[in-house]
Amino acid sequence: MKINEVNVNRFIAKSKVFGVDFVINPYVGCPNACMYCYASFLRNLKGYNEEWGTFLDVKRTNYKLKKLSVEGKHYLMSSSTDCYNLYEEKYEITRNILKQLINFDFTLTIETKNALILRDIDLLKQIKKLKVVISLNTLDDKFRKDIEKNSKIEDRLKTIKELTKNGIYTIVAISPIFPYLTDYKAIVKKTKDYAKEYEFEFLNLKSMTIKKKVLKYINEYHHDLYIKYAKIYLFNDNTYFDNLKEEIKLYCQEEKIKYRFK
Ligand code: SF4
Repeated sequence: MKINEVNVNRFIAKSKVFGVDFVINPYVGCPNACMYCYASFLRNLKGYNEEWGTFLDVKRTNYKLKKLSVEGKHYLMSSSTDCYNLYEEKYEITRNILKQLINFDFTLTIETKNALILRDIDLLKQIKKLKVVISLNTLDDKFRKDIEKNSKIEDRLKTIKELTKNGIYTIVAISPIFPYLTDYKAIVKKTKDYAKEYEFEFLNLKSMTIKKKVLKYINEYHHDLYIKYAKIYLFNDNTYFDNLKEEIKLYCQEEKIKYRFK
Protein backbone atom coordinates (compact mmCIF):
# COMPACT_ATOMS: atom_id res chain seq x y z
CA MET A 1 0.00 0.00 0.00
CA LYS A 2 1.41 3.39 -0.99
CA ILE A 3 0.58 5.87 1.77
CA ASN A 4 1.02 9.63 1.39
CA GLU A 5 0.34 12.06 4.17
CA VAL A 6 -0.86 15.25 2.51
CA ASN A 7 -1.65 18.65 3.97
CA VAL A 8 -5.00 20.02 2.86
CA ASN A 9 -6.72 23.34 3.60
CA ARG A 10 -10.01 21.78 4.56
CA PHE A 11 -11.70 18.40 4.69
CA ILE A 12 -15.27 19.31 3.72
CA ALA A 13 -16.61 19.78 0.20
CA LYS A 14 -20.01 20.81 -1.14
CA SER A 15 -22.05 17.73 -1.91
CA LYS A 16 -23.49 16.58 -5.21
CA VAL A 17 -25.51 13.94 -3.34
CA PHE A 18 -29.23 14.77 -3.15
CA GLY A 19 -30.27 15.96 0.33
CA VAL A 20 -26.68 16.24 1.58
CA ASP A 21 -25.01 19.63 2.06
CA PHE A 22 -21.38 18.61 2.58
CA VAL A 23 -19.25 15.52 2.20
CA ILE A 24 -16.21 14.64 4.25
CA ASN A 25 -13.64 12.32 2.74
CA PRO A 26 -10.78 11.97 5.24
CA TYR A 27 -8.76 9.95 2.72
CA VAL A 28 -8.23 9.74 -1.02
CA GLY A 29 -8.27 6.14 -2.16
CA CYS A 30 -9.75 3.17 -0.35
CA PRO A 31 -8.05 0.00 0.86
CA ASN A 32 -11.36 -1.86 0.64
CA ALA A 33 -10.57 -2.02 -3.09
CA CYS A 34 -14.06 -3.01 -4.18
CA MET A 35 -14.05 -4.31 -7.73
CA TYR A 36 -17.13 -2.24 -8.58
CA CYS A 37 -16.03 0.98 -6.82
CA TYR A 38 -17.72 4.00 -8.39
CA ALA A 39 -15.06 6.29 -6.88
CA SER A 40 -12.16 4.55 -8.59
CA PHE A 41 -12.11 7.26 -11.29
CA LEU A 42 -10.22 9.33 -8.67
CA ARG A 43 -7.18 7.24 -9.46
CA ASN A 44 -6.84 8.97 -12.86
CA LEU A 45 -8.02 12.31 -11.54
CA LYS A 46 -5.27 12.35 -8.90
CA GLY A 47 -2.66 11.08 -11.35
CA TYR A 48 -2.01 7.71 -9.70
CA ASN A 49 -0.51 4.86 -11.73
CA GLU A 50 -1.26 2.37 -8.98
CA GLU A 51 -4.38 0.23 -8.99
CA TRP A 52 -7.39 1.49 -7.02
CA GLY A 53 -7.10 0.12 -3.50
CA THR A 54 -3.29 0.18 -3.44
CA PHE A 55 -2.72 3.86 -2.59
CA LEU A 56 -4.05 6.10 0.13
CA ASP A 57 -3.71 9.83 0.72
CA VAL A 58 -4.12 10.62 4.40
CA LYS A 59 -5.48 14.15 4.70
CA ARG A 60 -3.82 16.22 7.41
CA THR A 61 -5.26 19.63 8.17
CA ASN A 62 -5.59 22.29 10.85
CA TYR A 63 -8.98 23.30 9.50
CA LYS A 64 -11.51 24.18 12.21
CA LEU A 65 -15.20 23.73 11.50
CA LYS A 66 -17.34 26.81 12.00
CA LYS A 67 -20.81 26.81 13.52
CA LEU A 68 -22.34 28.43 10.42
CA SER A 69 -21.06 25.73 8.09
CA VAL A 70 -22.25 22.86 10.31
CA GLU A 71 -25.40 23.70 12.29
CA GLY A 72 -28.60 22.60 10.55
CA LYS A 73 -26.64 20.99 7.72
CA HIS A 74 -26.52 17.39 6.55
CA TYR A 75 -23.03 15.91 6.31
CA LEU A 76 -22.05 12.63 4.66
CA MET A 77 -18.94 10.69 5.58
CA SER A 78 -17.73 9.40 3.16
CA SER A 79 -18.62 9.49 -0.51
CA SER A 80 -15.38 8.31 -2.12
CA THR A 81 -13.48 6.38 0.55
CA ASP A 82 -14.26 4.33 3.63
CA CYS A 83 -13.66 6.66 6.56
CA TYR A 84 -13.13 3.56 8.74
CA ASN A 85 -10.68 1.82 6.43
CA LEU A 86 -8.01 -0.17 8.26
CA TYR A 87 -5.49 2.73 8.21
CA GLU A 88 -7.88 4.88 10.23
CA GLU A 89 -6.87 2.82 13.25
CA LYS A 90 -3.41 4.38 13.03
CA TYR A 91 -4.14 7.86 11.65
CA GLU A 92 -7.43 8.67 13.46
CA ILE A 93 -8.36 11.31 10.88
CA THR A 94 -12.05 10.39 11.07
CA ARG A 95 -12.00 10.30 14.85
CA ASN A 96 -10.45 13.76 15.03
CA ILE A 97 -13.07 15.18 12.67
CA LEU A 98 -15.83 13.62 14.78
CA LYS A 99 -14.34 15.27 17.87
CA GLN A 100 -14.98 18.63 16.21
CA LEU A 101 -18.41 17.71 14.85
CA ILE A 102 -19.88 16.65 18.20
CA ASN A 103 -19.88 20.27 19.29
CA PHE A 104 -22.62 21.14 16.79
CA ASP A 105 -26.27 20.42 16.06
CA PHE A 106 -26.37 18.84 12.62
CA THR A 107 -27.25 15.65 10.74
CA LEU A 108 -24.61 13.09 9.92
CA THR A 109 -24.73 10.00 7.74
CA ILE A 110 -21.74 7.68 7.93
CA GLU A 111 -21.29 4.99 5.31
CA THR A 112 -18.79 2.23 6.02
CA LYS A 113 -18.09 -1.46 5.63
CA ASN A 114 -15.67 -1.64 8.54
CA ALA A 115 -16.03 -2.68 12.17
CA LEU A 116 -13.53 -0.01 13.20
CA ILE A 117 -16.50 2.35 13.54
CA LEU A 118 -17.18 0.60 16.85
CA ARG A 119 -14.04 2.26 18.26
CA ASP A 120 -15.83 5.62 18.05
CA ILE A 121 -19.10 4.68 19.72
CA ASP A 122 -18.30 7.13 22.54
CA LEU A 123 -18.36 10.01 20.03
CA LEU A 124 -21.16 8.67 17.84
CA LYS A 125 -23.49 8.50 20.82
CA GLN A 126 -23.12 12.25 21.22
CA ILE A 127 -24.50 13.00 17.74
CA LYS A 128 -28.26 13.28 17.97
CA LYS A 129 -29.13 13.09 14.27
CA LEU A 130 -26.93 10.24 13.15
CA LYS A 131 -27.46 7.41 10.69
CA VAL A 132 -24.88 4.75 10.03
CA VAL A 133 -25.11 2.82 6.79
CA ILE A 134 -23.35 -0.55 6.63
CA SER A 135 -23.18 -2.10 3.16
CA LEU A 136 -23.47 -5.79 2.61
CA ASN A 137 -24.27 -7.57 -0.64
CA THR A 138 -23.58 -11.19 0.22
CA LEU A 139 -23.28 -13.55 3.18
CA ASP A 140 -20.76 -15.66 1.31
CA ASP A 141 -17.31 -14.61 2.47
CA LYS A 142 -15.63 -16.27 -0.51
CA PHE A 143 -17.60 -14.14 -2.97
CA ARG A 144 -17.03 -11.11 -0.74
CA LYS A 145 -13.26 -11.70 -0.92
CA ASP A 146 -13.45 -11.81 -4.70
CA ILE A 147 -15.10 -8.41 -4.95
CA GLU A 148 -14.10 -6.53 -1.77
CA LYS A 149 -11.01 -6.67 0.45
CA ASN A 150 -10.46 -6.00 4.13
CA SER A 151 -13.91 -6.31 5.58
CA LYS A 152 -15.31 -9.68 6.58
CA ILE A 153 -19.05 -10.40 6.52
CA GLU A 154 -18.89 -11.64 10.09
CA ASP A 155 -17.41 -8.31 11.24
CA ARG A 156 -20.06 -6.32 9.43
CA LEU A 157 -22.86 -8.38 11.00
CA LYS A 158 -21.32 -7.82 14.41
CA THR A 159 -21.03 -4.09 13.69
CA ILE A 160 -24.71 -3.77 12.75
CA LYS A 161 -25.68 -5.54 15.97
CA GLU A 162 -23.36 -3.51 18.22
CA LEU A 163 -24.33 -0.14 16.75
CA THR A 164 -28.02 -0.85 17.25
CA LYS A 165 -27.43 -2.17 20.75
CA ASN A 166 -25.77 1.19 21.49
CA GLY A 167 -28.81 3.11 20.29
CA ILE A 168 -27.35 4.17 16.94
CA TYR A 169 -29.76 4.27 14.00
CA THR A 170 -28.32 1.67 11.65
CA ILE A 171 -29.26 1.10 8.03
CA VAL A 172 -28.20 -1.93 6.02
CA ALA A 173 -27.43 -1.07 2.42
CA ILE A 174 -27.82 -4.15 0.26
CA SER A 175 -25.46 -2.70 -2.26
CA PRO A 176 -24.54 -3.22 -4.95
CA ILE A 177 -26.86 -6.07 -5.81
CA PHE A 178 -25.00 -8.44 -8.13
CA PRO A 179 -27.57 -10.10 -10.41
CA TYR A 180 -28.23 -13.75 -9.51
CA LEU A 181 -25.51 -13.65 -6.81
CA THR A 182 -26.86 -11.31 -4.13
CA ASP A 183 -29.40 -13.09 -1.96
CA TYR A 184 -31.14 -10.05 -0.48
CA LYS A 185 -33.69 -12.10 1.45
CA ALA A 186 -30.93 -14.01 3.27
CA ILE A 187 -29.28 -10.70 4.23
CA VAL A 188 -32.56 -9.26 5.49
CA LYS A 189 -33.27 -12.40 7.53
CA LYS A 190 -29.82 -12.25 9.11
CA THR A 191 -29.99 -8.54 10.00
CA LYS A 192 -33.69 -7.84 10.52
CA ASP A 193 -33.52 -7.80 14.31
CA TYR A 194 -30.98 -4.97 14.23
CA ALA A 195 -31.35 -2.93 11.04
CA LYS A 196 -33.73 0.00 11.30
CA GLU A 197 -34.13 0.20 7.54
CA TYR A 198 -32.73 -1.04 4.25
CA GLU A 199 -31.35 0.59 1.15
CA PHE A 200 -31.24 -1.35 -2.09
CA GLU A 201 -28.90 -0.45 -4.92
CA PHE A 202 -28.37 -2.37 -8.13
CA LEU A 203 -24.93 -2.96 -9.59
CA ASN A 204 -24.22 -0.11 -11.97
CA LEU A 205 -21.58 -0.70 -14.63
CA LYS A 206 -21.64 2.65 -16.39
CA SER A 207 -17.88 2.99 -16.21
CA MET A 208 -16.30 1.01 -19.06
CA THR A 209 -13.27 0.08 -16.92
CA ILE A 210 -15.44 -1.35 -14.14
CA LYS A 211 -17.71 -3.08 -16.64
CA LYS A 212 -14.73 -4.87 -18.22
CA LYS A 213 -13.38 -5.88 -14.83
CA VAL A 214 -16.69 -7.23 -13.51
CA LEU A 215 -17.64 -9.04 -16.72
CA LYS A 216 -14.19 -10.64 -16.88
CA TYR A 217 -14.63 -11.85 -13.30
CA ILE A 218 -18.11 -13.22 -14.01
CA ASN A 219 -16.85 -14.97 -17.12
CA GLU A 220 -14.00 -16.61 -15.22
CA TYR A 221 -15.63 -17.43 -11.89
CA HIS A 222 -19.37 -17.59 -12.56
CA HIS A 223 -19.29 -18.60 -16.19
CA ASP A 224 -22.85 -19.96 -16.14
CA LEU A 225 -24.06 -16.39 -15.45
CA TYR A 226 -22.07 -14.67 -18.16
CA ILE A 227 -24.83 -14.67 -20.79
CA LYS A 228 -27.25 -13.26 -18.22
CA TYR A 229 -24.82 -10.49 -17.29
CA ALA A 230 -24.15 -9.76 -20.95
CA LYS A 231 -27.89 -9.34 -21.52
CA ILE A 232 -28.08 -6.75 -18.74
CA TYR A 233 -24.76 -4.93 -19.13
CA LEU A 234 -23.93 -5.31 -22.82
CA PHE A 235 -27.42 -5.32 -24.33
CA ASN A 236 -29.00 -2.98 -21.76
CA ASP A 237 -31.91 -5.28 -21.01
CA ASN A 238 -33.48 -3.96 -17.78
CA THR A 239 -36.02 -6.77 -17.35
CA TYR A 240 -34.06 -8.47 -14.57
CA PHE A 241 -33.78 -5.34 -12.41
CA ASP A 242 -37.34 -4.17 -13.21
CA ASN A 243 -38.70 -7.51 -12.00
CA LEU A 244 -36.37 -7.61 -9.01
CA LYS A 245 -37.42 -4.12 -7.96
CA GLU A 246 -41.07 -5.18 -7.88
CA GLU A 247 -40.17 -8.38 -6.01
CA ILE A 248 -38.20 -6.43 -3.39
CA LYS A 249 -41.03 -3.94 -2.89
CA LEU A 250 -43.51 -6.76 -2.27
CA TYR A 251 -41.12 -8.59 0.03
CA CYS A 252 -40.41 -5.50 2.14
CA GLN A 253 -44.10 -4.68 2.41
CA GLU A 254 -44.88 -8.24 3.52
CA GLU A 255 -42.02 -8.22 6.03
CA LYS A 256 -43.01 -4.71 7.19
CA ILE A 257 -39.55 -3.40 6.49
CA LYS A 258 -38.67 0.24 6.01
CA TYR A 259 -36.80 0.49 2.71
CA ARG A 260 -35.77 2.64 -0.18
CA PHE A 261 -33.97 2.28 -3.49
CA LYS A 262 -30.85 4.26 -4.22
S1 SF4 B 1 -15.73 0.88 0.29
FE1 SF4 B 1 -16.73 2.34 -1.08
S2 SF4 B 1 -15.12 3.81 -1.60
FE2 SF4 B 1 -14.11 2.01 -0.73
S3 SF4 B 1 -13.53 0.77 -2.51
FE3 SF4 B 1 -15.52 0.05 -1.75
S4 SF4 B 1 -17.06 1.16 -2.94
FE4 SF4 B 1 -15.09 2.24 -3.16
